Amino acid sequence: RIPVLTIDGPSGSGKGTISRAVAERLGWHYLDSGALYRAVGLAAAWEGVDLSDAEAVAQCAARTEIRFETQGAGEPHVIVNGKDATRQLRMETAGAAASAIAAHPPVRAALVDLQHRFRRAPGLVADGRDMGTVIFPDAPYKVFLTASAEERAKRRHKQLKEKGVSVNLDSLLHEIAARDERDAGRAVAPLRPADDAVVVDSTGTPITEVIERVLAVLPE
Ligand code: C5P
Repeated sequence: RIPVLTIDGPSGSGKGTISRAVAERLGWHYLDSGALYRAVGLAAAWEGVDLSDAEAVAQCAARTEIRFETQGAGEPHVIVNGKDATRQLRMETAGAAASAIAAHPPVRAALVDLQHRFRRAPGLVADGRDMGTVIFPDAPYKVFLTASAEERAKRRHKQLKEKGVSVNLDSLLHEIAARDERDAGRAVAPLRPADDAVVVDSTGTPITEVIERVLAVLPE
């Protein structure tokens, strides 16, 4: 069986950065499952689909074409129905839309096969909310990455600023807290560590050390 390392956790816990770095170190593939939900939310908005209509959004998910394109160093670009949506997908509005549509069971079901197809040799690092609990429950390596809410909001703020997006820190903290609450409180695939996940708290920890702690979950 092709090995999978799942890295789940709330927004801003550093999952994206850590997961990409770990995948690179291992030479494994990387699945950014949050980008899939963000892309479906965006495509639904483009098509004027009512985000609260579970079936309509699930149909939209089934026909939405999502591609990840590596362009030199840095984060891969996300192409949604032929359009480069990388920048738009990073906005908190896309995160909020993703969180709204991710609460619909048929939408989650529509994305299962697509996520499984990322499991290719020599291995996969899967980043999300339910990678270890729902999508890859048989994964041999599981991490749950957390950090304090303040630190997560600050990181997101810094990340967005570096990308030229200016947002108010307080409102960001508020939005992120609301999104986490919805993700943790929903009936389907609620955000929680898998029973066999190693919990890593990255509050006040430099990225390089968090990467080492995650890599330590794998055998030498
Ligand atoms: O990780 P990211 O912030 O990009 O995720 C955006 C939203 O997508 C999350 O707030 C969550 O509601 C949803 N999501 C999910 N399951 C995943 C990944 C993301 O429900 N595996």
